[in-house]
Amino acid sequence: MNTKYIFVTGGVVSSLGKGIISASLAKLLQARGYNVTIQKFDPYINIDPGTLNPYEHGECYVTVDGHEADLDLGHYERFTNIRTTRANNITTGRIYKNVIEKERRGDYLGKTVQIIPHITDEIKRNVKLLGSKNNYDFVITEIGGTVGDIESLPFIESVRQLRWEMGRDCLCIHLTYVPFIAAAKELKTKPTQHSVKQLQEVGIQPDILVLRTEHELNSSLRHKVALFCNVDADAVIQSIDVPSIYEVPLMMQAQKLDEIVLRKTGMEVGAVPEMKPWREFLSRMKNAKESVRIGLVGKYVELQDAYKSINEALFQAATYNDRKLDLQYIHSEKLDDGNVEEKLASMDGLIIAPGFGQRGIEGKFAALKYAREHDIPTFGICLGMQCMVIEFARNVLGYKDANSTEMEVHVKHNVIDLMESQKSISNMGGTMRLGEYDCVLREGSKAAEAYGKTHIKERHRHRFEFNGEYRTEFEAAGMQCVGENPETHLVEVVEMPSLTWYIGTQYHPEYNSTVLNPNPLFVSFVKAVIKHKK
Ligand code: GLN
Repeated sequence: MNTKYIFVTGGVVSSLGKGIISASLAKLLQARGYNVTIQKFDPYINIDPGTLNPYEHGECYVTVDGHEADLDLGHYERFTNIRTTRANNITTGRIYKNVIEKERRGDYLGKTVQIIPHITDEIKRNVKLLGSKNNYDFVITEIGGTVGDIESLPFIESVRQLRWEMGRDCLCIHLTYVPFIAAAKELKTKPTQHSVKQLQEVGIQPDILVLRTEHELNSSLRHKVALFCNVDADAVIQSIDVPSIYEVPLMMQAQKLDEIVLRKTGMEVGAVPEMKPWREFLSRMKNAKESVRIGLVGKYVELQDAYKSINEALFQAATYNDRKLDLQYIHSEKLDDGNVEEKLASMDGLIIAPGFGQRGIEGKFAALKYAREHDIPTFGICLGMQCMVIEFARNVLGYKDANSTEMEVHVKHNVIDLMESQKSISNMGGTMRLGEYDCVLREGSKAAEAYGKTHIKERHRHRFEFNGEYRTEFEAAGMQCVGENPETHLVEVVEMPSLTWYIGTQYHPEYNSTVLNPNPLFVSFVKAVIKHKK
C-alpha cells in the first residue's frame, strides 16, 4: 500500500494540544497493527530548538541520534514507544539552510531560487523522506504554529500541493478552539468557522475537525460546524479537557477518529483494538489512592513545560507504584541553608533538575546538603548530578571552593570540568555531547539493581563531566562512580551506597520513559521514596 500522509494543523490559538492529538492518533493506528511515525515541522528560523531557552520554547527533547528536538517528540515517543530521530523534527531554518547550500553548490542551474517552488519542494521532500525510507503505513505531520501566521505559510502551501498530488493518500486534520462565554453561558463556534475559512483561502479543505473545548459539545453544535465548514458531521470531533493527557487516545477512539482516518484514506476499517495495556495503565492511574510527594528543585519552576519529560517520567513511575504524583516545584534561587529545612522537610523525595549556568546553583547545593545529611531519597539529573558531586566535594572532602568550570572557569578544585572533546568547540548549536551512549553499571550497585542489568543506553545533553582525577578520592569517602562509558570512561552515574537512594546520572533517563515502558531508574526512585516514607 502507499504511505498515507496525515497533516495536523491548528487554528484560533496555540497550545491546543496538536502534539497530543497527533500522538493519540498514532497510538490508535499503531494498535491496529499499522507502522506509524510522527514528525513535527516548526516554523521558526532556528536550525533546532537546542539554542532556545526554556522560557521561549519549553524543554528541549533529545532523540537517540543526538538531535535537540521540540518537546512534542517526547509526547510522540511516550505515547507510541517508537523512537524518533532528527528526521522527525524539521524547522524553517533547516529547510532554508538546505536550499541555500544547494544554491551555493549550483544545484539550481541558474534558476531564481524562490519560496515556491524551491522552499516548498524542500519541505515536501522532507515530509516524504520518512515514509519512503522506512516503509511507514502512516506518516503524521504536525505543523507548528497557527494557521494565518506568516511563518507557517510555506508549510501550509506545501500541504496544499501534497494534497493535490496525493489525493486520497493525504488527509488534513484541523484543530481549533471553541470558547465558552461565561456571561452568555454559550459555546461559540465563530472562531472555528473563521479559522477554517482561513485554511480554505490558502486552498486547503480540512477533512476532520478536532474542537478543543472545556464543555461538552452537543450534536446540534457539531452539525452547525459541519455545515459551515464543509466537513462531515461525524468528522467533527471534540477534544474536551481531561485530567490526564493519557486519556486522550481513548477519548479519540470513542469518537472513532482512527476509523474516520482509515475510511477517508480508503483503508479497511477492521475491528476496534482493545488497547488493553493502555487501559491497564489508566486504571492504575485512576485507582491510585495514596500520593507520593516529590520536590523538584530547579530554576524554571514557574514554567509548565521546562521539565516536561521529567514530569511525565515521574508520573509514569508513580503510576506503576500505584501512587498519585504530588509534584512540588521548589525554586532553587529561593533556597539557602537558612530556609532549606522549612522548604524541604515535607518532601518524600527530591529531584535535582538539569540546567545550564550559575543562576540558582547555590540553592541546589543547599538542597543536596540537607538531603544527604537527612537521607532523603534524591535523584540528580545531569546538572543535578554535577551538583551532587560538587556538594560532596565541598562538604565531605572539604574542598570549600569546589565547583564546575562552567560556573567558575579557573576554580582550583574543578571536580566538574569541560569534556576534552568540547575544548575546541566554539559554535553553540548542536555541539554538546548529544544522544544515546552506552553505559556499564557496576555489579551490585543500586543503579544496576534498578535496571536489572549492567549494560544500558541512555541519552545525553551536556558539555561538562565528572573530573576523573578525583575518582579515587570520592570513592574512598563514600560517593561511588558506578556507571561509566565503556570507551571513554566518562563517569555517567554516581551513588552513595550508605544512603537509601542517592543517585546522580550524567545522562537524562527522562527522555527514555514511555507509558508502556517506564524508565527503570524513575520506577526504582519512586519505589525507594515510598518505602523510605513508611
Ligand atoms: N550545564 C551542564 C553541562 O553542560 C549540564 C547540562 C544539563 O543539565 N543538561 O554539562
